[in-house]
Amino acid sequence: MDFVYDDQNIFAKILRGEIPNQTVFENDHALAFRDVYPQAPVHVLVIPKGPYMSLDHFARDASAEEQVAFMQAIAEVCRLEGVEDGFRAVANAREDGVQEVPHYHLHILGGRNLGRMLAK
Ligand code: AMP
Repeated sequence: MDFVYDDQNIFAKILRGEIPNQTVFENDHALAFRDVYPQAPVHVLVIPKGPYMSLDHFARDASAEEQVAFMQAIAEVCRLEGVEDGFRAVANAREDGVQEVPHYHLHILGGRNLGRMLAK
C-alpha cells in the first residue's frame, strides 16, 4: 500500500502551530489535545508528530522510538484525564473507517459509560 501524506490536513497545521489546540500532553514524538467536538466528557486525540496517515501507516513505518513515545503519551493521557473506570480507544482509517482527518490519530473517549462499540 502506498501512503501519500497530505501536509495541508488540519492536524499538520496544528503541529506547525498554525491552528490553536487545547494540549493535554506532549512529548518528543506525540501530541495529545482535546477534540473540538467532544463525544464524551473525556475526548482526547493522540497524534504522532511524524507524517503518518493512519494506524497501519504508523505501525509499518514509524521508528521504535516514535511508537514507544506514542504509547507513553496514551498512558499519560489516561493518567491525567483520570479514566480509572475505563475508556475507549478508537482509530478510524480511510473510507470504510470514516476517517475525516488524514493524519493518524487515536481517539481516547471516557468519563461515562460508552455503550456497545458499534451502533450498527
Ligand atoms: P476522524 O473521523 O477519526 O478523522 O475524526 C477527526 C476528529 O477530529 C473529529 O472527532 C473532529 O471533531 C476532530 N477535529 C477536527 N478538527 C479539529 C481541531 N481543529 N481540533 C481538535 N479536534 C478537531
